[in-house]
Amino acid sequence: MKIDHLGIAVRSIGDALSFYKDALGLELSSSETVEDQGAHVAMLPVGESRIELLEPVSEETVIARFIAKRGEGLHHVCYEVDDMEAALARIASRGGRVLEGYPRLGAEGNRVAFVHPSTAHGVLIELVQKAGNRKEKI
Ligand code: ZN
Repeated sequence: MKIDHLGIAVRSIGDALSFYKDALGLELSSSETVEDQGAHVAMLPVGESRIELLEPVSEETVIARFIAKRGEGLHHVCYEVDDMEAALARIASRGGRVLEGYPRLGAEGNRVAFVHPSTAHGVLIELVQKAGNRKEKI
């Protein structure tokens, strides 16, 4: 496993980018709108990992509700796994609750799943299995 990225909820990617680029010296590698998550997403590599800035597309999205409740800040930690089924079985056996409807296909053809923060010591966990690292069919 490694940390694939850290997701950070922001009100405006434009505002956040000027800080992350100018103050921290990171570079923008890609940006897209992920309808599934209701968010504009910007990726900034940091070594082998990345920072993922998430800006809500509307007030009715998960990210917008997160910001309304807790303000901007760390939203989730994403771990890359080799075997999604094995990882989820292990998490479930230790009381972790996988969000309904997961795992499913996410950005770039990768499989993703989320573990509810109330069962993971307060932090939403995302798991990703890369499209190129997949033995079984979906
Ligand atoms: Zn993420």
